[in-house]
Amino acid sequence: MYSGPTVLRAARLLDVEAGEMHRDAVVVVEDGLITAVNPASVPDVMHDMDLGDVTLLPGLIDTHTHLTREVGADFFTDYVTRTEAYGAFNAVRYGGITVRAGFTTVRDYDGPVAVELGRAVERGDIVAPRVIPSRHPLGITGGHCDITGFAPGIREGGPEEGIANGPWEVVEAVRYQIKHGAKVIKTCATAGVMSLEGPVGAQQYTLEELTAMVEEAARHGIKVAAHAHGPEGILAAVQAGVASIEHGSILTDEIMDLMIEKGTYLVPTTYLVDRIALDQLPPLVRAKAEEITPLARQSLRRAIARGVPIAFGTDAAVFPHGENAGEFGIYVGMGMSELDALRTATIHAADLLDTPDRGRLAEGMLADIIAVPGNPLDDISVTRDVRFVMLGGRVIKHVVGGRDMHPMGR
Ligand SMILES: [Zn+2]
Repeated sequence: MYSGPTVLRAARLLDVEAGEMHRDAVVVVEDGLITAVNPASVPDVMHDMDLGDVTLLPGLIDTHTHLTREVGADFFTDYVTRTEAYGAFNAVRYGGITVRAGFTTVRDYDGPVAVELGRAVERGDIVAPRVIPSRHPLGITGGHCDITGFAPGIREGGPEEGIANGPWEVVEAVRYQIKHGAKVIKTCATAGVMSLEGPVGAQQYTLEELTAMVEEAARHGIKVAAHAHGPEGILAAVQAGVASIEHGSILTDEIMDLMIEKGTYLVPTTYLVDRIALDQLPPLVRAKAEEITPLARQSLRRAIARGVPIAFGTDAAVFPHGENAGEFGIYVGMGMSELDALRTATIHAADLLDTPDRGRLAEGMLADIIAVPGNPLDDISVTRDVRFVMLGGRVIKHVVGGRDMHPMGR
């Protein structure tokens, strides 16, 4: 495979940070990094690609995925009928779909498989997004991050599996996840939709437990992401100092102002509302989804208007992998500009993930580059039609005349 420098040419390039669209753009890539953007003189290289009438963007970042599965009729029985190997093969397949949809980095919450997926990608063994893995999410016994609905003795867990009660068990669980590769700690601060326990918004971890978790993770330089729907749990998580609130379905003005003050990101995961296959889910889960989704939409609209920091995240698995970019259209439909929507999946997501080496097209950044037809500042839906993907300098997708020159597709 050719490994020398590559020159990419395109009709447009979006500088997401400055908000400027450059015409007749040139990007030079070498050794997996961007070495120049629009240089005064373009080097003469063997690999000089003109991508034509497209817009170059930084590889997109989805800060909330589950690459080991996808919701279907077996979603709940999979916990007892499938092994981790099943999730690993899924992760290769869904990771391939996701990266070809233009998402070159994900923060993934699916256990040890996500850790190894990320390592395999960095070795160059498989084509999937770069992964910031949480390993097992932390939750209370019987909470959203536990597996409930089965007889006693089936799928019980402790701190090693992320099930931890009280500050000291929480600390133990954080240490264990980090020992085995977690780069972020995910927790369930409240109940949830896709699980068989009580009211969807109920607080599950106390402020004391959440504070112990955030403080222990911080000692390792690691952030906490808190799944939270109800206001009491969201407030406790923000007060404890988590870096992001996942879903954030019921936001009060007080919570939003505290998030702005502390720089806590909201990761909305709202596109799934349009796409969730409710008819395949147990009645309790369906009822919870129907209760929470209108509230979540209202909260997101208010958060955008108020200026709460937002990082792009979808909960892909609850809807089919590869449709991640559908989330942009929700943000724009709720009053966010197209440019700010793109920032949620680039500079804001990179800030949340502590990955300053991506999210912009600039010298020294990772050569994770995508191209979309037309101008995404005029029509954000073009992000659903990614024509070209480069991952670490390697071209993994290039659609020419409707045909992918690197076919692996869904
Ligand atoms: Zn999720």
